[in-house]
Amino acid sequence: MNGWTLVFDGFEPDQEGLREALCTLGNGYFATRGAAPEARADGMHYPGTYLAGGYSRLVTELEDRAVENEDLVNLPNWLALSFRRPGQDWFDLRTVEILDHRQELDLRRGILTRRVRFRDTQEGVTTWTQRRFVNMREPHLAGLESTFVAENWSGPLEVRSALNGLVQNAGVPRYRRLRGDHLVPIGTQAIDDETVALEVETRGSHLRIAQAARTRLSREGEAVSGNRRLVQEPGFIGHDLDVVLEEGVPITVEKVVTLFSSRDHAISEPAYQARSWVRRASSFDKLLQGHVLAWDHLWRRFDIQIEGSEWAQRVLRLHVFHLVQTVSENTIDLDVGVPARGLHGEAYRGHVFWDELFIFPFLNLRLPVLTRTLLGYRFRRLPEARCAAKEAGYRGAMYPWQSGSDGREETQAVHLNPHSGRWLPDYSRLQRHVGIAIAYNAWQHYQVTADLEFLRFRGGVMILEIARFLSSLATHNEARGRYEIRGVMGPDEYHDAYPGAAAPGVDNNAYTNVMAAWVFSRALDMLEILPPRHREELADQLGLTDEEVKRWDELSRKMYVPFNQDGTISQFERWDDLEELDWVSLVERYGDVQRLDRILEAEGDTPNRYKASKQADVLMLFYLLPAADLQVLFKRLGYPFEPAVDIAKNTEYYLQRTSHGSTLSRVVHSWVLARIDRARSWRFFLDALASDVSDVQGGTTAEGIHLGAMAGTVDLLQRCYGGITTHHDALWVDPLLPQEVSGLQFEVHYRGHRVGIEISPEVLRVSTRPGVASPIQVGLAGEVIELGPGETRQVLLVGEAARKPIDTGHVAFGGLRRWRRRRHRTT
Ligand code: BGC
Repeated sequence: MNGWTLVFDGFEPDQEGLREALCTLGNGYFATRGAAPEARADGMHYPGTYLAGGYSRLVTELEDRAVENEDLVNLPNWLALSFRRPGQDWFDLRTVEILDHRQELDLRRGILTRRVRFRDTQEGVTTWTQRRFVNMREPHLAGLESTFVAENWSGPLEVRSALNGLVQNAGVPRYRRLRGDHLVPIGTQAIDDETVALEVETRGSHLRIAQAARTRLSREGEAVSGNRRLVQEPGFIGHDLDVVLEEGVPITVEKVVTLFSSRDHAISEPAYQARSWVRRASSFDKLLQGHVLAWDHLWRRFDIQIEGSEWAQRVLRLHVFHLVQTVSENTIDLDVGVPARGLHGEAYRGHVFWDELFIFPFLNLRLPVLTRTLLGYRFRRLPEARCAAKEAGYRGAMYPWQSGSDGREETQAVHLNPHSGRWLPDYSRLQRHVGIAIAYNAWQHYQVTADLEFLRFRGGVMILEIARFLSSLATHNEARGRYEIRGVMGPDEYHDAYPGAAAPGVDNNAYTNVMAAWVFSRALDMLEILPPRHREELADQLGLTDEEVKRWDELSRKMYVPFNQDGTISQFERWDDLEELDWVSLVERYGDVQRLDRILEAEGDTPNRYKASKQADVLMLFYLLPAADLQVLFKRLGYPFEPAVDIAKNTEYYLQRTSHGSTLSRVVHSWVLARIDRARSWRFFLDALASDVSDVQGGTTAEGIHLGAMAGTVDLLQRCYGGITTHHDALWVDPLLPQEVSGLQFEVHYRGHRVGIEISPEVLRVSTRPGVASPIQVGLAGEVIELGPGETRQVLLVGEAARKPIDTGHVAFGGLRRWRRRRHRTT
């Protein structure tokens, strides 16, 4: 196994769901789980195909209430392909003797290969090899190639190749009592001898989806014809092909598929497009070439190389792989957000949360135009967020905790605790901090790109409207002389109310209040940065008054922050009055206590009583903001804060009280620990890396990957261990390599430059590619230097001359490979 391949040997029914999620192939437009082509949703397998932004709603009558949910819809299964020998059942791994089973995911080229060797009930040994791709170059195309070799027999084989629209959303057992019958069959059509087409519509959103499939047969590269029979029923169409296998001679079935939807640009209507593009499509092999080239280009931009841990290298690549399969170049121009669980399964119904906070910083530094697109998803839903604020009695924009098609609040009203079987009220929508994440992302995007147009027309509008909302949320407490935000939830979802309180929410969540102060400050900065004309226009457009701006200034100095008796920041007001949880006894009884909310509820208790968090909450502050910025922020707020002492003290305090019930939590803890205890940080980093490959939450990955943790780990390596920050109009590099890492190389995009960063324990080297972009400011070893195109600077990280930038003059940009060769050579 090298750093580019993920291999699963053997057939393990319990692991199928996990493998399907991890072997998902996608291209930013749509994605298909790595389910076997012959599989149906049967409790073990779950074929799923999802279109970016392909949502629809359904209402379920559940007990005494109507529950409405919007789902990312499971689309017709284009993979459907099976076979049988005369007199036998359709192929099923469970009914044959498996001699060999291997799945191989080629990350470099985006190809999934599966090889099955089996003995059937007539003692025939057959090898069946499948290769598939979801085309990264031409996003409406995908392909599945199946090759059969009869090893000790000759005779007929019947192959069924179909498009199956008789599927539902049923991928998450917890949701099964809720309706999932989203697809309404519209039509099936046999287009020619080798091509069929299927059209369906989503029940709620009336989204039309069309697929067409062309199936061809060949023997050793030569086309062969076989008898074909059409198989057709509403929602399902395919061909049964009669093939004659000769012992030892491979027969290949090539299936090329197109997928279009009524959300697409530049189409007349999906069914027409699906038909015409399948007719124009070249062969599987030719399409594959373009696809592989697209991946090659993606890797040049997105790869990160780490020396010291082959396992970490492979998992990091897997994380980048799934990130760019969810959002890629093909996403630019689409109106889509980033679903927290990728396009890989149905958990959280494909909704978009604050997880963007963990994803955009990485994308900003690799393909900023993509982040701009994804922020466009939020911008287009600004009117909805404004209405939501107004209806709730506030001003500005109140973004939803969970967002789907149109940006209304999609958080469910009740959720099921599988431990107790009880449906419980879900107050997680009270996480008003989601807007802070959007403002933060918009500001970061500006920091990386210096794109004033973005700030004027999109980012800035959102920042101001979010500041306005937070300002309307804040109330003045005369006695304290401070502003407060009451009745909310922080990132830690285990506290949704005070023990015994009638109303949900807690008061003065420190993360929300401090970050609100940060948003107010950034809103003021932004008004300073914008050229006067733009500022006036924006102020006119939003009806911004001097009083409002003055209030923001006041709020940025007077938000209330609660503290515990020992001087640590209180997660929220009166947190210190809660009881300590007996973690030892809980672990003894349950082992895994990540989801202690479910455990306690099933025991008739509630986490609301305890000083116990699901995930990083206060520590999010140290994750998002550099120490120097925090110091400025707290000083402005008039609270004592000494980063060197307080970050360590708070980290230790909350580490002891956090269950890491969200995969995001370990990313944050690893990050925060990097400057306090690097060895411990590395352990958290490895745990965060394991989130999906090892399915640390025991079954959740099968329902969709955790994209925030995936992107977060790569970003952690890049920005935290790599020490990259973008502030005060400079790109700062101040690495912090853990002992276990002997080298780190990657390229970032910064203000028109591709900047190569190479870090070893001894040397930091920063280079730009030749080009015409204006020089950039780079902060190295505390000094800001100017770097023009095609220049390199290096800094010795050890020895007497350590941390002094050295000018290596203009050198041609050699790319990562050349740097690797030059490593350790002193200047
Ligand atoms: C976490 C949230 C996160 C959501 C989606 C939840 O378990 O608590 O912070 O946004 O998952 O990933």
